[in-house]
Amino acid sequence: MSAAASGAGRIVVVGSLNADLTIYCDRLPQPGETVQGNGFAVNPGGKSANQAVAAARLGGHVSLVGAVGEDPNGAMLEASVAGVGVDVGHVRTSAEPTGVAVIAVDARGENNIIISAGANGTLSPKDVADAADVLEGAAVVSLCLEVSMDTVLAAAQAGHDAGAQVLLNLSPYAEIPSALAGLADILLVNSHEAALFLGSSVPGAGAAASEWDAVRSRFGGHGVQQVLVTLGANGSVVLDSLAPAGSRVAFVQPTQVHAVDTTGAGDAFTGAVAVRLAAGDGLADAAAFASVAAALATTRKGTQAAYPEAADVERRLR
Ligand code: ATP
Repeated sequence: MSAAASGAGRIVVVGSLNADLTIYCDRLPQPGETVQGNGFAVNPGGKSANQAVAAARLGGHVSLVGAVGEDPNGAMLEASVAGVGVDVGHVRTSAEPTGVAVIAVDARGENNIIISAGANGTLSPKDVADAADVLEGAAVVSLCLEVSMDTVLAAAQAGHDAGAQVLLNLSPYAEIPSALAGLADILLVNSHEAALFLGSSVPGAGAAASEWDAVRSRFGGHGVQQVLVTLGANGSVVLDSLAPAGSRVAFVQPTQVHAVDTTGAGDAFTGAVAVRLAAGDGLADAAAFASVAAALATTRKGTQAAYPEAADVERRLR
């Protein structure tokens, strides 16, 4: 049964929508150089829109709070999230153009990305206040750092006040105020972001539980009790200071797949975690489900279009 069908709580995603404008080329240009491209695509993106779509495809009840411009990219993005059942009643239009990510990808899959926040930059604490109707009943509030820190902080506070679990994806990495760290029930980071947050490196793949337990303590020192660290093709680690002693570190083994495009795997993982938390799962079970969902997302090209449905994940989990 899907999370929506089972009556799971609402997920409110507050954040960004971007049009991904991608040019494919043999090699990336050097500063001052022009190179010839060999293909162009416009696709829906933005971390929050991706996470909302990932969650909705997995059966979550999702509302997105965001802003787009009054332009064709904005209409395309709104249609893309609404098309999978995301409630867009709090995606408003702005006089600024829709956010864009200009992406160059070379023949080896290396990329350069420049983001122009556009309308995302106008999302403010007032938008959070205006979304009180959906935030009040939320089970999970999912946040990342592609909109202003004031807005993220206001949404975390609103989610906390409503009794929702606040899931904070520290991406793209930025230093956060300690008040925000204190409001986040769960921090979701890749190993690079974990190291930046803690100010020192984190263990690599294959490290012992005791090494990760030390990392768990360091997050605890920042007021963060529950952390999911994603490790790409090496899976993820659950650091849960609220779990009984002896089970505060749990490794989630990677799901073996033939990956063809890992873009947006982190957003698929975040959306899937949100769905299972909203359905009442604990952190370790949510991470195990998300590991399958994110792995399946890497087996198809693209981001939102590659995200799996709940039945695909459940078939793989059996
Ligand atoms: P991105 O920014 O590219 O979206 P990220 O750095 O935020 O990614 P990753 O740690 O690369 O996040 O990936 C998130 C999760 O996706 C991993 O924890 C893992 O569960 C899954 N995953 C990613 N790549 C693979 C892969 N090649 N095979 C299996 N699972 C993968």
